[in-house]
Amino acid sequence: MTAFELAVQLRRPEFTLDVAISAEPGEVLAVLGPNGSGKSTLLGVLAGLLRPDSGYVRLGDRLVTDTASGLLVPPHRRGVGLLAQKGLLFPHLTVLANVAFGPRAQGMRPAAAEERARMLLAEVDAAEFAGRKPAKLSGGQQQRVALARALAPEPSVMLLDEPLAALDVDATPAMRALLRRMIRDAKQTAVLVTHSALDALVLADRVVVLTAGRVVEQGPTREVLARPRSPFAARIAGLNLVPGTACAGGLRTADGPVVFGRGDADVAAGDRAVAVFPPSAVAVYADRPHGSPRNVLSVRLAAMEPRGDTVRLRAGAGPGGPSWVDGLAADVTPAAMADLGVEPGAEVWFAVKATEVEIHAVGG
Ligand code: ADP
Ligand code: MG
Repeated sequence: MTAFELAVQLRRPEFTLDVAISAEPGEVLAVLGPNGSGKSTLLGVLAGLLRPDSGYVRLGDRLVTDTASGLLVPPHRRGVGLLAQKGLLFPHLTVLANVAFGPRAQGMRPAAAEERARMLLAEVDAAEFAGRKPAKLSGGQQQRVALARALAPEPSVMLLDEPLAALDVDATPAMRALLRRMIRDAKQTAVLVTHSALDALVLADRVVVLTAGRVVEQGPTREVLARPRSPFAARIAGLNLVPGTACAGGLRTADGPVVFGRGDADVAAGDRAVAVFPPSAVAVYADRPHGSPRNVLSVRLAAMEPRGDTVRLRAGAGPGGPSWVDGLAADVTPAAMADLGVEPGAEVWFAVKATEVEIHAVGG
């Protein structure tokens, strides 16, 4: 059985959402797309806040929206949790009462609801705020409490609408790590709307890319981001990704070689991980470079694409070299390209400093 399945059309004067998607139980689905592409509208349809013009939504084995019969189960009877950009808490209730609210509304006894609320507050590192009112918390602290509140009624599906967007940059890594623990590792089925390739990479099993209300691309996160086919996915991805296993000092790839890099706080040796670095961090040489950069890869130059004031070079696997270099990108200036004096098909060297490479644990 799927965790949810929907096929809907929703028409507005200048916009039509026309989407059919589903998710397996425990799967985290990232929804990416430009502003106005219909991401929040899609979440609204799933949550029961919006009635589509035609189609249906099924949660587990339960039909919750069906335009043919006029069925529209209201949001609070669907068993979905919603965490918006700014998780809205009831201002007049304490943090503890906010989190206990959902279980209480489901009929749980006060003591049991409070116990569940305290447990969740501890899990999101907010136990100490239990007695405070939301206004006495920072934005990041409020968002952690809002996550606990959304999870408290044990939703079958969590809907997260850009949950990191309103946080200041200092609070973002901690919240991302928390979402990873509470959603991904806990196998909570979830739909995550995000603008960030990194969020999708760290949190999602699968990615759906919306453009103008339609799905233009979908697939496993790493495939979509490593081989984007839609302009939007290419623009937000724009990163080099190398899959493997985290190890001391970096990441071990499937065929042996290590990519040296810096692990984030969340990654431990043995975790499935990706090494991530931007094309601008890659230097390209005709002859094997000696000296500081620790990652030196032999590649075949597969393609050259002009991009504004730089040239993007695409690597193909070199003779006898590892296959994972295929598709890696390097951005160089036209002057550097002229100095290099090579054509597609040539064997060149890609060099990346270890300090430019981030190692992130991934799921799936
Ligand atoms: P996203 O979340 O991807 O930025 P939305 O789902 O919010 O996109 O919006 C999709 C389209 O619907 C946009 O053209 C937007 O202007 C329009 N829209 C969003 N909300 C409403 C609304 N309440 N009433 C009318 N049009 C809306
Ligand atoms: Mg939106």
